[in-house]
Amino acid sequence: MSQPTSSINKLQFILDERGRLEREGLLIRVRTIESPQGAWISVDGKRVLNLCSNNYLGFANHVQLKEAARKAIDEFGVGPAAVRTIAGNMVLHNQLEEKLARFKRVEAAIAYQSGFNANLAVIPALVGRDDVVFSDELNHASIIDGCRLSGATSVRFQHCSPSSLEEKLKEHFPAGSTRRALVVTDGVFSMDGDIAPLPELTEVAERFNALIMVDDAHGEGVLGDGGRGVVDHFHLHGRVDVEVGTLSKAFGVVGGFVAGRRIIVDHLRQKGRPFLFSSALTPPDTAACSAAVDILELSDDPVRKLWSNTRYFKEKVAAAGFNTGASETPITPVMLGDAKVAQEFSRRLFEEGVFAMAIGYPTVPLEKARIRVMISATHSETDLDFGVDKFVRVGKALRVI
Ligand SMILES: *Cc1c(COP(=O)(O)O)cnc(C)c1O
Repeated sequence: MSQPTSSINKLQFILDERGRLEREGLLIRVRTIESPQGAWISVDGKRVLNLCSNNYLGFANHVQLKEAARKAIDEFGVGPAAVRTIAGNMVLHNQLEEKLARFKRVEAAIAYQSGFNANLAVIPALVGRDDVVFSDELNHASIIDGCRLSGATSVRFQHCSPSSLEEKLKEHFPAGSTRRALVVTDGVFSMDGDIAPLPELTEVAERFNALIMVDDAHGEGVLGDGGRGVVDHFHLHGRVDVEVGTLSKAFGVVGGFVAGRRIIVDHLRQKGRPFLFSSALTPPDTAACSAAVDILELSDDPVRKLWSNTRYFKEKVAAAGFNTGASETPITPVMLGDAKVAQEFSRRLFEEGVFAMAIGYPTVPLEKARIRVMISATHSETDLDFGVDKFVRVGKALRVI
């Protein structure tokens, strides 16, 4: 039988979209890593200094985490074989959640398959169609999707602006309202590395009796005492209702969690759809995450090393004449402005043996293209010197410094 001729047109929209992405320089090219994560990795056949992974503490290839994963495979196998609420809830999951709650200094925690899923679980469980979510305009895509799924009215407030939040609350959540309101912000913003003004946002939310939630994906293992996150950093324990975390960045594995009051976490065990309808974290992942928490409970050495590397790198690139924007964390944007320059910069860095991604529109505003450098505790000062040296070399060749 021959294909009906109209079958070609059915997919024309994909070709059109692809053409547009190519023309606008937005087509994503995925590189392939051929080695474990670390300061130096093998990418598309080339050994390069890794300045773009979220492996803040080096846990992605940590001997203790690997050992825990192996042991879990021996004892529990590789898969959970079910969702948590049917037959997938293993002792490993309970242990991880207890450890996370203790580490975060909260009443309870619940683990998910990813940080993305944690946001999809928690937001629709807290607000619904009659309610309002107040969301920082630069919040992560998974927060935006969680808000959409909830059916609540979404109101964006200006980036890191408590006064904008207050205005929006006055307008959309008047006193005496029977609706619920949820304020949500990233703890650390992933493209600029700036930190949300959480004490001020919390104070505003409290005044309006709104729930407040922080997604601390880039603050977990980075900010606060021993990496306990942004709530600990600002001493806001007990005042922020929900902390979302990821196990896929500093924790080095994969997964996500929600930490906070027991009443909320228990509610999520009843209502969070990724918990109810998607299989549990695997035994090796879960055990490796537990090992990550154990390491952080014992020592803040990895976190200290991350921060001393961060200070070292930032001082050196700034001294070389680069602008690192609003960053207050190991996420270090090297601002270049023009997207084409940033692309070319990244390409030349790679040729020189440095792997650092260019980020342009629409991920960041037009004219705010940059190379986003991710510092890790795995880097040595020699590695960072090498990196800065290459930045200077390429920066001079492209006349940006
Ligand atoms: C990375 C990230 C997520 C997603 O976490 P995964 O565990 O990778 O799914 C969610 N929120 C923010 C703010 C992030 O940076």
